[in-house]
Amino acid sequence: MVTGSGGGKPADWCVTVHGGAGELPLEQRQPHAEGCAAAVRAAGEVLAAGGRALDAVELAVRVLEDDSKFNAGTGACLTESGTLELDASIMNGAELASGAVCSLPPFKNPIAIARAVLDDGRHILYAAEGASRFAIEKGFAPASPETMITPAVRARFERGSVVAESYAGSTVGAVARDKNGHVAAATSTGGTFFKRSGRVGDTPIIGAGTYADDDAGAASATGLGEAIMRVCLTKATIELLRHGMPVEEAARFAVMLLEMRGLGPGGIVLVDPHGAFGYARTTQTMSWAALSSNDPAPQRGF
Ligand code: ASP
Repeated sequence: MVTGSGGGKPADWCVTVHGGAGELPLEQRQPHAEGCAAAVRAAGEVLAAGGRALDAVELAVRVLEDDSKFNAGTGACLTESGTLELDASIMNGAELASGAVCSLPPFKNPIAIARAVLDDGRHILYAAEGASRFAIEKGFAPASPETMITPAVRARFERGSVVAESYAGSTVGAVARDKNGHVAAATSTGGTFFKRSGRVGDTPIIGAGTYADDDAGAASATGLGEAIMRVCLTKATIELLRHGMPVEEAARFAVMLLEMRGLGPGGIVLVDPHGAFGYARTTQTMSWAALSSNDPAPQRGF
């Protein structure tokens, strides 16, 4: 297990992202960390200008969805039928407002649709056809699968078979704290490679893949959805922060929950209400980056 933090230092504003728990080949590690750094740079501009944590996490995840190295938006992995079924969620710690979509057919930025669900406020989670109808009503245009399925993903699909169903890695997520002390979290994924059509993981489930509460902090999880959902990973971690556990320790405890029960691989990033961030993973890699009012440039790693 690997854990880290910004030394528990509070910050006026802070954004931290992950690019998925997994086992990246050596040559992909640095590029993934750079992709994460680009996302925190974009979100950091919003926060430095006094913008909202909610807008910052949405933007960070959009940047990662548009980066085809990651398993979210463009570059997301495929179901056993070779189709895209996308999951995303976003939560605002100020009033616990949440929005999510699951099994969404191709749309360029699933996180923007999750944000529209949050803003709309009537429901929290829309699935498949209903999610697609909601998105179109809100002015989002469906994307053609060819624009979102990258040659690398197509090649992996063609090499594999259904028995090769696997946890794909490279899911993306973000947490932030803004100058007004509000926190937010967002997560987006294509799920697991060769998943059955209709399979939904932790990412769009509030309390499993994503959670935010101004009184305690914000968290985004990655790893095997079937493990993360069993322990309600982000909500469990936020409760540790609520009871005063420092961020790095809370991150370690979170992934220990998965490890101790032998449930599956995972990782998490989190921020507390004072702008201190932490992360942990049980996997070989989890690309990440963080930027705060204390830093001149993004910290990053894998
Ligand atoms: N948690 C995601 C899922 O199970 C996958 C991942 O984080 O890589 O759908």
